[in-house]
Amino acid sequence: MTATAPITQDVMTIPRKLPEGPINLVGLTRDGMRDALIENGTPEKQAKMRAGQIWQWIYQWGKRDFDEMTNLSKTYRAELAEKFAIEVPEVVTRQVSEDGTRKYLVKIAGGHEVEVVYIPEDGRGTLCVSSQVGCTLTCSFCHTGTQKLVRNLTAGEIIGQVMIARDDLDEWPEQGAPKDETRLLSNIVLMGMGEPLYNFENVRDAMKIAMDAEGIQLSRRRITLSTSGVVPEIARTAEEIGCQLAISFHATTDEVRDKLVPINKRWNIEVLVEALRAYPRVSNSERITFEYVMLDGINDTDADAHRLIKLIEGIPAKINLIPFNEWPDAPYKRSSGNRIHRFADIIYKAGYASPIRKPRGEDIMAACGQLKSATERARKSRKQIQAEAGL
Ligand code: SAH
Ligand code: SF4
Repeated sequence: MTATAPITQDVMTIPRKLPEGPINLVGLTRDGMRDALIENGTPEKQAKMRAGQIWQWIYQWGKRDFDEMTNLSKTYRAELAEKFAIEVPEVVTRQVSEDGTRKYLVKIAGGHEVEVVYIPEDGRGTLCVSSQVGCTLTCSFCHTGTQKLVRNLTAGEIIGQVMIARDDLDEWPEQGAPKDETRLLSNIVLMGMGEPLYNFENVRDAMKIAMDAEGIQLSRRRITLSTSGVVPEIARTAEEIGCQLAISFHATTDEVRDKLVPINKRWNIEVLVEALRAYPRVSNSERITFEYVMLDGINDTDADAHRLIKLIEGIPAKINLIPFNEWPDAPYKRSSGNRIHRFADIIYKAGYASPIRKPRGEDIMAACGQLKSATERARKSRKQIQAEAGL
């Protein structure tokens, strides 16, 4: 692909229901689960209640075996077990960093692999979830963007990542235990592999499951979706998911952003900022997070900081500065600590929170933008990456 190649979202999709074999209940919406039960013989009158019961077993108590669903009759459980499955992706490897960050490589249907990262912090923790295998976009500083193979994850494969992490953290509550206020998995960020807004429906359905009051029960304020700027889907995110929004901004001129985040050629800074102005009001989010990767000599001058402040004027915002996480053959270098602090200071003085993200899990290549599954290791050459970035 050249720098001027069109941005596509040509991705493979797999049907949720395989031609033969049981239907996986994980990832179905509440209505979807009810319909599936009816189609498979549950009387219509009972279906809503049954779906509610099964839902609770799966998402509140973390059960994967119909036999443990003790408020359902034995015969009904046997019928369910014949027609349905409760399946989450398989964990292939689990690595733990010196700083406690955990990285899971999980295998999904078709033998593809995606990465999921758990980042603990003060007794709580954030799960960084993937939405696609690889990414169709080719941001020049992102390791995932060099991966050729792409397929959208199903809703089940997305919420399955949360379930796997809860398994590993041993965080399914005991029945009857008091509601747990501090959770090890307290936040979700859609900042793993892939562009979540190019897989909108599956991401939405999975996050609805994560937010459902009879289940995993995470507040929409504890879920952050990060996008490189798929403008037409931004208003829809507010209306249909209502979670927090993070934007991979990364540059203050179209010239530089075109190179760093090529989707900018389709929807430029001005168009993007317009869409963002409408967001907090629609979704009741307090603020939009602007992510800004600090690349030495590329986007990190004082003038950039001042331009950034001007561009986002009037938008309730927080600016997350991300020291560039280097990966093998990456065409950029991380800005110096001094530079990042100076940049943060200018933004802070203009009245915006400007935290500098602490790189986590670097020793296991789990930091932001370093994810790339083992399925497709054929790396583009440094030359190719630079050519695409127009360097
Ligand atoms: N595709 C979405 C979400 C996944 S990327 C998006 O682009 O927003 C999550 C965040 O990590 C984005 O802000 C992305 O720009 C940033 N990122 C990518 N590569 C990085 C790297 N090597 N170092 C630091 N941040 C990186
Ligand atoms: Fe895709 Fe996000 Fe990486 Fe860009 S930064 S290539 S949109 S995952």
